[in-house]
Amino acid sequence: MRAHRFTLHRPATLDEAIALKAAFGDAAAFHAGGTELLVALKARVLRYEHVIDLKQIPGLKGIRVRSDGTLSIGALTSHDTIANDPLVRELLPGYAELSEQVANIRVRIAGTLGGVLCFAEPHADAPTLLCALDAWVVLAGPDGEREIPSRDFHLGEFTTARADDEILASIEIAPQSTGTRSAYRSFGHTERPAVGVAAVWSTDNPQRLSLWAGALSARPVCLERAQEAAAGLAPDLPAASVWEGLRAAVAADAADIDTHDDLHGGADYKRHLVSVLAQRALSACLPQP
Ligand SMILES: Cc1cc2nc3c(=O)[nH]c(=O)nc-3n(C[C@H](O)[C@H](O)[C@H](O)COP(=O)(O)OP(=O)(O)OC[C@H]3O[C@@H](n4cnc5c(N)ncnc54)[C@H](O)[C@@H]3O)c2cc1C
Repeated sequence: MRAHRFTLHRPATLDEAIALKAAFGDAAAFHAGGTELLVALKARVLRYEHVIDLKQIPGLKGIRVRSDGTLSIGALTSHDTIANDPLVRELLPGYAELSEQVANIRVRIAGTLGGVLCFAEPHADAPTLLCALDAWVVLAGPDGEREIPSRDFHLGEFTTARADDEILASIEIAPQSTGTRSAYRSFGHTERPAVGVAAVWSTDNPQRLSLWAGALSARPVCLERAQEAAAGLAPDLPAASVWEGLRAAVAADAADIDTHDDLHGGADYKRHLVSVLAQRALSACLPQP
């Protein structure tokens, strides 16, 4: 099927893009890589008379380290660019590894980080690790810029805290201490993950774990009991003992996750996967004997 006819706008600045959206309102949509939007337009699930392509806007693409050490990823940066970026590989190898495994090479080259966050299809990888990393997003709109923590950005399936007239400009990740390691593990039998778990383990004093599960529910979920249990573990335990100390708490957190049977698997199966993937993500963060 073909999409309904639309007018394509290619603004050169952020202000121009925001003004176009103000002029056309609900009849216009922003376009980044188009991997979700164009499919929905062609299937006639969505219909817009105006499409505002953000790709020509300088500053929305690329990866840099700010003066305070924050890693800033432009929203229009593709998964493939993130996977191969030397800064990401050095500072957050776990995130480069995640980006390398998104979908297939065509989606990774065209699809952007901003696109996956704004579309908010739950079967995605990056949102889960960004929550675990305490990342935040920068939104630009008619009233200027505002920041939102990643963990407050997704409100439900296909729903975010972004106002309709705001453009996601960048994703920011604070510098990680030398004692902090992060990892993401996922499993699925379609191109999208059925379940993904992200762990960020810090051996600083006090020891701290950030553990999140995603894809199986409408938005990423924090495994709070496991995080509390980790804070009470003796420092420098071997990986196997860390897992023994957390296993019951992870299973209890997983049992509470609001998920359901679907094409990606049964609810109990997905909850079981949370424990399996949490163990794998954690062991990738911990020093191996
Ligand atoms: C076959 C397939 C397999 C996939 N598998 C995976 C997977 O394994 N893991 C995974 O994480 N993801 C997966 N995805 C999702 C993929 O990551 C997204 O398709 C992609 O990142 C979306 O980015 P885009 O730039 O193409 O967004 P677009 O399609 O251009 O836009 C998507 C939506 O977001 C809005 N939007 C985009 N950018 C902005 C912005 N900067 N500001 C405001 N609004 C914006 C658009 O208006 C639109 O509503 C898969 C997708 C496909 C098609």
